[in-house]
Amino acid sequence: MEYLSTRDKTLRKSAAQAITMGLSRDGGLFTPVSFPSLSALEVETLCGMPYRKRAAYVMGKFLEQFRPEELNLFTKNAYGPDRFDHPEVAPLHKMDKRTWCLELWHGPTSAFKDMALQMLPQLLSASLRLTGEKKTACILVATSGDTGKAAMEGFANVDQTKILVFYPENGVSEIQKLQMVTQEGGNVGVCAVKGNFDDAQNGVKRIFSDEALREQLAERGYFLSSANSINWGRILPQVVYYISAYCDLLNAHEIKLGEPVNYCVPTGNFGNILACYYAKRMGLPVGKLICASNRNDVLTDFIRTGIYDRNREFHTTMSPSMDILISSNLERLLFDMSGGNDELVREYMGQLADTGRYEITPGMKKRLQEVFYGGFCSEEETAATIDMLYKYGYLIDTHTAVAAKVLTDYRHETGDKTPAIFVSTASPYKFCDSVLSSIGEKPVENSLERIAQMEGVTGVAAPARLAALKGKEIRFHNVTEKELMEEKVLEFLK
Ligand SMILES: *Cc1c(COP(=O)(O)O)cnc(C)c1O
Repeated sequence: MEYLSTRDKTLRKSAAQAITMGLSRDGGLFTPVSFPSLSALEVETLCGMPYRKRAAYVMGKFLEQFRPEELNLFTKNAYGPDRFDHPEVAPLHKMDKRTWCLELWHGPTSAFKDMALQMLPQLLSASLRLTGEKKTACILVATSGDTGKAAMEGFANVDQTKILVFYPENGVSEIQKLQMVTQEGGNVGVCAVKGNFDDAQNGVKRIFSDEALREQLAERGYFLSSANSINWGRILPQVVYYISAYCDLLNAHEIKLGEPVNYCVPTGNFGNILACYYAKRMGLPVGKLICASNRNDVLTDFIRTGIYDRNREFHTTMSPSMDILISSNLERLLFDMSGGNDELVREYMGQLADTGRYEITPGMKKRLQEVFYGGFCSEEETAATIDMLYKYGYLIDTHTAVAAKVLTDYRHETGDKTPAIFVSTASPYKFCDSVLSSIGEKPVENSLERIAQMEGVTGVAAPARLAALKGKEIRFHNVTEKELMEEKVLEFLK
């Protein structure tokens, strides 16, 4: 399988090159030139496999350069019991006759980012071997809270890599921040940015396109790569769990083979829901793709009007990993929905950079609305949804609550009774403050004490690694102005 740039489809790279580079030099995102198909027979075969085997099989379809034994080893390492605290890795929780919640937070950092970031370092190491790259990869990450920790956990002490994470100083939860600043490993660095997530992400993009800086780093023996969801190696492992969840419903005799299932995904950078779209493109019977946003509802408007307009107020919400106004991965969807029109994608991205706005063609808008539904959820509704589901016996985090609410809205609005899965992207213990308040408890002062408080109140056990944050040494205190991120990179790679 070859990969092309969304801004220049004549530019072709192997999977190993695409994963090593992260982002194409022209600013485009690497995207497979075509989608391998997944037949009904293959879905049946996958039903008989454990998660790690399903993962190796599905990813193998996009990665012919990698040997099957190698992929099997990688997925065994990534999704083993020492890393994931649930034997099914990504289990479904049944809510009612036609609704399930897909729990993607059983990995080491308690957010769905682990699903991909336990795999990516292994894919990258193998890609460095395949491409003969001798320089050290410096992974630059802009995080809205969860990616940074999950990436460091995946890359800590991995040979021939260093990783530097930038997070918005006041844009992450206290638990998320503690998870990051206590990270161990000789090759990791963490720095707060005075600004919001878009500022941090723009800073990282700016550094990537700075040719002079690249040359300077090359002289020091480094090249830059990305662990954000712009990297194909992040998207691919996420395609797996949509297929796996479908298999689990089949195994439980909840659906028949070929029957459509709707998926509702809490969305920020559009990576997770894009992976679901790609599963659909492979032939998985996905019905509607429901894109759930918080108050930062730029995607809801886009799906409803065909106009993407980031010129609006930025809201800091209780679901910080979705506080994003520029959803990078939308570019991959635009490329696909325009029938691979790289010129048009370039034009839209140019307009987005210049004016913060673009409008897609009527044809694209029609295709978009056939596949996607967009909805958003206010802070009050998020809290009320957590409270309601808790009373019903299921504790969820703030991001998951957005998805649960938007799925309910979708069903009310359309009357669609198709079986549906909403995606749970983080453990409620990453957001104790908001979750406790939502269920009518007053959070105690100290953020780490809140973990024990929530366990006491709810009787739901906290993930062991979050509980263990107490007493960990704080290793990182760096803060930077958003304009000065380059200097932090040069300092880190001295
Ligand atoms: C990253 C994240 C999201 C958003 O996922 P995207 O792939 O960026 O759309 C949602 N919820 C949580 C908990 C996250 O960490």
